[in-house]
Amino acid sequence: MRNVYMDNNATTQVAPEVIEAIRPFLCKLWGNPSSMHTFGGQVKKHIDHARQQVASLIGADPSEIIFTSCGTESDNMAVRGAVEAHGSYPHIVTSRVEHPAVLTVCRHLQNHGCSLTELPVDFQGRIDLDQLKDSINSDTAIVSIMWANNETGVIFPIDEIAKIVKNAGCIMHTDAVQIVGKMPIDVKKTPIDMLSLSGHKIHAPKGIGAIYIRKGTRVNPLLIGGHQEKGKRAGTENVPYIVGFGQACELAADQMEKEITHVSALRDRLEAGILKACPEVAVNGDRQHRLPNTVNIGFKDIEGESILLMLDDFGIAAASGSACTSGSLEPSHVLRAMGVPFTSVHGSIRFSLSRYNTDQDVDCVLEHIPPIVQRLLEMSPL
Ligand code: PLP
Repeated sequence: MRNVYMDNNATTQVAPEVIEAIRPFLCKLWGNPSSMHTFGGQVKKHIDHARQQVASLIGADPSEIIFTSCGTESDNMAVRGAVEAHGSYPHIVTSRVEHPAVLTVCRHLQNHGCSLTELPVDFQGRIDLDQLKDSINSDTAIVSIMWANNETGVIFPIDEIAKIVKNAGCIMHTDAVQIVGKMPIDVKKTPIDMLSLSGHKIHAPKGIGAIYIRKGTRVNPLLIGGHQEKGKRAGTENVPYIVGFGQACELAADQMEKEITHVSALRDRLEAGILKACPEVAVNGDRQHRLPNTVNIGFKDIEGESILLMLDDFGIAAASGSACTSGSLEPSHVLRAMGVPFTSVHGSIRFSLSRYNTDQDVDCVLEHIPPIVQRLLEMSPL
């Protein structure tokens, strides 16, 4: 049976080049980078190199990159760190379609005395920029809006958003976990103060992330203890994975143009094929401003989980709902916020591709999806 992995927004295959880059740091170069001796010194220069590789992917200065354990930690640090540095329970602005790594922290801080605005989105998954402008007040410490949505792939106009936020004198954070490495980003051109990244979305292992913090941004650390990462993130560095993350960023930068063409062609053929072959389907989210690798399709009157299980029988992996909560039957908060009809929210499936997908993978999905949908519609009580 063919294995067709189209759940790359949940996690990605570790690139062979990344595995090779990591290997020496598990076998020979195991020193602690904070140590004064050669074991430590040897390793430290590789962390510096990885920091440069990560920085270069987003146009940052290496001194503005702090390594963390994952995207969730970076998101937590940005929001909590800015709120704590501001002091006295300030106001936070975010959107209703953020990943739980942002949304849950914002709601937690609200429960502890901060005020919170969650901006709504329209049917395409877009926020209203006038509403954003109106939501910011003199007490707003941070605005956190994702760059690209993990479920729909919808890309937010972060350049315009950041300009509004900076004009209002607030800190601008963006969860860029899904867009980094997939589309060009340059923090020199976009006035964001903080940006979250995650390794396992771009062919590095799980358990490594980073946060970009623009020089001069007031943000308190989340983890305190040792002086690692210039006192901004305590804890002995995960050297092998930092090196792997650096390598993954360099690969992503080198292959980006080719990869965008490759995955968008596959995605478009997959999308067109499903729309043609299946009755009562619709693409969720703004198709014009979307990650090249993602398509989210609503199948009316059938359960997304049933489609997933039947696809799985043919070796095909996709997702329903949020990547990190798949397995839960809670309907997607993103699709509900967009006003997707209830009958389609439950039947929405996300296919997310990577550089490793092929034309044969798309053929395989297009061969199996229509009969699965047909069978489920026949079984549907609706
Ligand atoms: N933000 C977004 C948009 C995500 O898609 C994810 C993971 O799916 C995260 C944050 C969390 O990243 P991590 O799994 O590295 O904690």
